[in-house]
Amino acid sequence: MNQRNHSCCDVPAGVHFSICRECGNRGKPVKEITLKNIVKEARLKAVNGLDGFYFCETSTCKVVYFNNEKNTYLRKEDVKVRVGIKETEDPIPVCYCFGWTQDRIFNQIKQLGYSTAIQEISAKVKMGECACEIKNPSGRCCLGEVSRVVRRGMKLYGNNKKR
Ligand SMILES: [Zn+2]
Repeated sequence: MNQRNHSCCDVPAGVHFSICRECGNRGKPVKEITLKNIVKEARLKAVNGLDGFYFCETSTCKVVYFNNEKNTYLRKEDVKVRVGIKETEDPIPVCYCFGWTQDRIFNQIKQLGYSTAIQEISAKVKMGECACEIKNPSGRCCLGEVSRVVRRGMKLYGNNKKR
């Protein structure tokens, strides 16, 4: 087991999962602290206990958090932030701690031929400056998603202008 330094990157992936009834895909568990910071206050009050919730990662599914046992489904309109993986129009947030959007990454690739997002974010994560647990709706480190967006951008706009 490799031990990461920061609590935001600590959530074990793939250990537990639950099926989102709306889209039929697996969701990953989210912590109460994430829900407390991401879900709109008025909606939070109506939820009876924040344990046992899961995050739905399906891009086309409007459900963000679900708890089948409590029969509670929190949707895009119930949360305070734009859920990047569920958005198709700008701004599409990718990294919530340091403000990287898909557009910012794509523009960098258009101008430079590459993106510095992964290096810059990794450096800040190492310094302990990330707060994914309370800023990212998934409650997890954004680096996996950032890599995916960079790869997509390189395919779309990357050229061989690399340094
Ligand atoms: Zn879903």
